Amino acid sequence: MKMTKHLDYQKRFDSFSNYELYQNLEKESRNAIKDIGMKYQLTYQELRQLTDMALDFVMWDETSIGKQWNNEEKSIQHSDQLAKKKILGSIYNNWEKLKENATNYDSNGSKREYKTEGRKLKTINGDNAVFGMCPVASEKTVCCNLRTIDVAKGCGLGCSYCSIQTFYEGGTISVEDNLADKLAAIELDPNKNYHIGSGQSSDSLALGNKNGILDAQLDFARNNPNIILEFKTKSKNIGYLLQAAVPRNIFVSWSLNPQLFIDHEEARTATIEQRLQAARQLADAGILVGFHFHPIVYYSGWDADYYDLVKRLMAMFSVNEVGLISFGTLTFIKPAIKALRKGSMRSKILQMPFADAAGKISYPMETKKKIFSVVWNTFQPWHDEVFFYFCMEDRQVWESVFGRCYETNDDFEKDLFNNVSNKLQIKSELLISQIN
Ligand code: SF4
Repeated sequence: MKMTKHLDYQKRFDSFSNYELYQNLEKESRNAIKDIGMKYQLTYQELRQLTDMALDFVMWDETSIGKQWNNEEKSIQHSDQLAKKKILGSIYNNWEKLKENATNYDSNGSKREYKTEGRKLKTINGDNAVFGMCPVASEKTVCCNLRTIDVAKGCGLGCSYCSIQTFYEGGTISVEDNLADKLAAIELDPNKNYHIGSGQSSDSLALGNKNGILDAQLDFARNNPNIILEFKTKSKNIGYLLQAAVPRNIFVSWSLNPQLFIDHEEARTATIEQRLQAARQLADAGILVGFHFHPIVYYSGWDADYYDLVKRLMAMFSVNEVGLISFGTLTFIKPAIKALRKGSMRSKILQMPFADAAGKISYPMETKKKIFSVVWNTFQPWHDEVFFYFCMEDRQVWESVFGRCYETNDDFEKDLFNNVSNKLQIKSELLISQIN
């Protein structure tokens, strides 16, 4: 009788074992889940819950599911259904606590090991469109109506939280071959102004001038004085821009984060010091720069680290050298979370409470207000001198932190354009006066 029961459960477990995330687990956790399942006759739902938590523990470098179960089991005298509920409950509470509390990054200088390998470059020359609207914009958030040009698809820098990895899989970066022709064919309304960026489907500078993509964009900006064109990067790859004739309607922005976060979640990007120094060099060459504090992350020590970073930034640049500064935080679409778990990358990026944020997943509203307020308040001396905005946030965040919000996205778009254009104007007047 006991044998039949065992065989029955084995069959049930075999059908569960096809669960994709179970297959992705390393052997030790897979075996532990199987043993626990057999011993306590876990239901399909319980096996799934245990597997999801097991995968998170592996990704977050926490004690494995097997060890946690054994430790809990030791403190309970019996091994019946009641014990099962108690142990599952304790492990769930532990998992929840890890998500609720600020993420703990090891600051002993040890970087995480990244499984992701460098990506191969390939050239694309099809009839795909390169011009569009910002792919992560949403009607539910206050948005700046950013237009994008996809000069390449895919990114080799390997940030753990980046949605580009979800959009373009396959381990390659596809670089446009005939970008100049495609940009020349874009029909812009000459009576309208546009803020266009090329850093949404790839890093704007990491590939340099591969296939002439930077030359094509410089020409595009030169031929369309009614646009402001933004290169967004986490690289230090400014060599090409330093020797090129950069039209006055181009500016370059860096995503910034404290080095501790970069070490753990932004695999192959430039260090914070390299990013700041690269921005400094471009500012010295008369090119306007911008900064994106995106994502601002809630981890142990975040407040002191962001405070130091903002202070350093304000000490290194003058307000007339900076076109804009944006704030944003971790925001995931559900397929991105699935893809991250599937890749079981060693990363604590999903160690956060999953609160609904306009249909996406982010921190709870109170956490957002807290982290944004600290960064915003540290920028106090620059409040009236630089254009600040939120990316992908709703009205409630704007009003609570900035004390204001735009009526419409068009108003937001206009204000951003005018502010950056003013700074570009100041920069070019300064350059002319230096030449004379
Ligand atoms: S606010 Fe952010 S998400 Fe919205 S359009 Fe602008 S860049 Fe895109």
